[in-house]
Amino acid sequence: MNVIFSSESSRLAVEDGLVADETARSAREIAVDGFIVPGLRDAHFHPITYAASLVVPSLKSAQDFAEISQRLNQAADGMAPGVPMSAIRLDDETLAEGRLPNRHDLDTMAGDRPLIIHRYCGHIAMANTAALALAGVTSATPDPVGGTLDRDAQGEPTGVLREMGIEVVSLPLAEQSGPAVTDDQVVDAMYALASVGLTSIGGIVGCGDGPWADLGDQFSQLVRIADRLPINVRVLVIGQDSDQLRDAARRIKEVGSRRLTFLGVKIFGDGSLGGHTAAMHEPFADADTTGQLRFDAAVSRPLAETALNLGGIVAIHAIGDRANAAVLDFYEDIVAGGGDANRLRIEHASVLGPDEVAAFARLGITASVQPAFMASETEWLEKRVGPVRLTQTYPLRTLLDAGVPLAGGSDCPVEPPHPLPGIAAARDRCGIVPAQGLSAAEALSLFTTGAARALLEPEPLVAGSPADFVVLDVDPLAATPDELREARVLATYVAGELVEVPDGIVTWQE
Ligand SMILES: [Zn+2]
Repeated sequence: MNVIFSSESSRLAVEDGLVADETARSAREIAVDGFIVPGLRDAHFHPITYAASLVVPSLKSAQDFAEISQRLNQAADGMAPGVPMSAIRLDDETLAEGRLPNRHDLDTMAGDRPLIIHRYCGHIAMANTAALALAGVTSATPDPVGGTLDRDAQGEPTGVLREMGIEVVSLPLAEQSGPAVTDDQVVDAMYALASVGLTSIGGIVGCGDGPWADLGDQFSQLVRIADRLPINVRVLVIGQDSDQLRDAARRIKEVGSRRLTFLGVKIFGDGSLGGHTAAMHEPFADADTTGQLRFDAAVSRPLAETALNLGGIVAIHAIGDRANAAVLDFYEDIVAGGGDANRLRIEHASVLGPDEVAAFARLGITASVQPAFMASETEWLEKRVGPVRLTQTYPLRTLLDAGVPLAGGSDCPVEPPHPLPGIAAARDRCGIVPAQGLSAAEALSLFTTGAARALLEPEPLVAGSPADFVVLDVDPLAATPDELREARVLATYVAGELVEVPDGIVTWQE
């Protein structure tokens, strides 16, 4: 049986939660009013940070420091004095001041309440003086491995924290304040994902350390709500050591939920384009730096081997071409040692020269891509990478033509969770180098077949595969990208059952 959606089908035979052959006598037929499409999958998603983005103060699209201050004060209303506060999704590109706020700026905003603000990319954060004091950070505190604490001319920390420097402050804050989101709020957030058409996500979580450590032990939170999950969460653990991975796989198995499975390990190779921390071969076009390579093969090897031995995958974040080259070298060794290339992913794979694309293709490494990045980077991407590298940034057409397996995602809450605008962006690229655009079917398959494969799920909507599907009000293969952006998800089915989304669920806040 072939994929069904192209036939404008509005019926599906289901048996025991699986797609049934139409001739199966005991199958039940689900008839819908709309277009049946395979359940949309997001290969790279941060479920707890997303849930937090719906409830903790978001600074996205704040125009200037005054607006940041106003939003923070609003959020602090009713909070006991002295309780630490976190805020997320700050984007300095939209700030009139044209720079990140430092500790002194934050002191005028939050006073003596410890405050940490995460840049939207998750690779940079800012702390005020009270937060630095709570964390015991002084001019004598050394930079941690893989990160920096920015300092002024006198050597005093400015409050700007980069990469592993973030958790130097966020961990002590988390100990003080506890998790920022409740279990109920995370469950609501997963219903919100069903309502936008997602039936599975690759859910990236930390275990109380690493980026967003102030959000608490995200892994344990997912395990606690496993039985309440309306959609499938394939867990990628931001693991620091092999024991942590083995422990995570064991705990997921013990829960025995169909919805929660162990997917593997997430490792960081570099930073972001927005923060100039992506590792590039050549300097950025608008800053005299080649970014920060965070990738350490010696540290990553045991993690990767453990994940593969546990039946999982390896997903390594690499945005700049230099980071991609380093990770591809590493994967070449893993493959030479007998590792399965089908289980090796590079997250983002944003800037790729011909050498990197060739290595992806030769090894068969999956590029886990986020087309929606283009929607929010239209204003500054060319300024960052320059005109030549712009044609090599998010090179979806080049990758697909080279035979590289692609998987779609959002990196939510970096971008909104909605997969349909992501599919649209893979087609028209929001105007960025349109020649790198995909066809309607190719773009859809990023978020269906491609992501399913990257999540170790069977081919969607074939006989015997889980009846995970959505009903749209348009045919995604006939709709224009703009029509797709406006399209509505009429219903979402997981394992043949309609997901009943509670009233009042919020899917996104700016
Ligand atoms: Zn991410």
